[in-house]
Amino acid sequence: MKMKRKSTIFHPLFIFIISQLAWLSLLGLWIYWFVSNYIIFNQVGNRLAPQMVPKATNIFALVLGVCLLLFLLLGMYLIFSFLNRQRQITQLYDNFIANITHELKSPLASIQLYLETLNTREVPLQRRQEFLNLMLQDANRLQNLINNILQISGLQKKINVYHFSIYNADALISQIIKETEQKFKLSAGKVRITGAANKSIVADVNALKMVFDNLVDNALKYSMNEHPITVHLAAHVQNVVVEIIDRGIGIELNDQKKIFQKFQRVYYSYSPNVKGTGLGLYLAKEIVKYHGGKISVYSRGKNTGTTFRVEFPVYHAKKKGYIQYLLKLTQKNKEAESEEFEDE
Ligand code: ADP
Repeated sequence: MKMKRKSTIFHPLFIFIISQLAWLSLLGLWIYWFVSNYIIFNQVGNRLAPQMVPKATNIFALVLGVCLLLFLLLGMYLIFSFLNRQRQITQLYDNFIANITHELKSPLASIQLYLETLNTREVPLQRRQEFLNLMLQDANRLQNLINNILQISGLQKKINVYHFSIYNADALISQIIKETEQKFKLSAGKVRITGAANKSIVADVNALKMVFDNLVDNALKYSMNEHPITVHLAAHVQNVVVEIIDRGIGIELNDQKKIFQKFQRVYYSYSPNVKGTGLGLYLAKEIVKYHGGKISVYSRGKNTGTTFRVEFPVYHAKKKGYIQYLLKLTQKNKEAESEEFEDE
């Protein structure tokens, strides 16, 4: 059954705008009426009781009135922005539901197809291995998606428990990238690691895996798997910098801030037909932020490639601050976990 669409005239935002316009027009009319009759009021007032309203009170009432009006307008503006943002989120959320349905269904359907083929036909050994690899790839994709959703839900409820430790940045990032390559079954040479940081960082390995899985996956997806990508490591005085550089479709300047928002996807006429949920970069940003770092994007637009730059604070044994707090928190969590284990 087809649902009947609500007419736009009853849209809450529309009603809100109309009602605000109504009272503003009323106020305008009152002011117009008062100003046009002011001279008469003044004469009558002066004749009847000139001492009743002293001048200072007049000014006070006027200033207070203007302040209240400004306050009201500010309130209206805030409510309007809030409603507008909610409307955008709902729209993005609707897109997300449509996208995630596809993202869940398509790898599952392909796994099913391979399994049915293997079950009903004689498949040569080499083809069988190929099928198994493809199924593994699809299963990993599904796992990745589910992990992203669980991680975001945990972040929102503030229930994710991270285990931070001190690592050599070069060894850690190389290891993570290697695992990403294996996970997505990437051919040799698809990802190049260059540079070195020679510094230590404090990180949760599993959380960082999610960050780089998403960034590498995106880099390949949006360069249509045609070009290799580079992961470049470097260090500044306070930061370790990891750049993921691709030669793909690029991101227009106007969209570069947007893409880190939840559910946000960007489409261009020249975008390849790749599916996604708009969760990857949001999650990456939140995790990097939790590590005390930041993530940014550089691109000169259409078909000029994209660079995502992830910065982590360098670990200094003597320096007190957020990084030490993360290590202490991990220690506390570990103690609490082992106490729980002993109680059991
Ligand atoms: P998605 O699941 O859509 O890939 P992300 O949050 O990972 O969600 O990315 C958000 C949007 O940012 C994508 O829809 C895409 O338009 C853009 N984007 C991300 N990475 C790249 C990239 N390397 N090159 C071009 N566009 C990108």
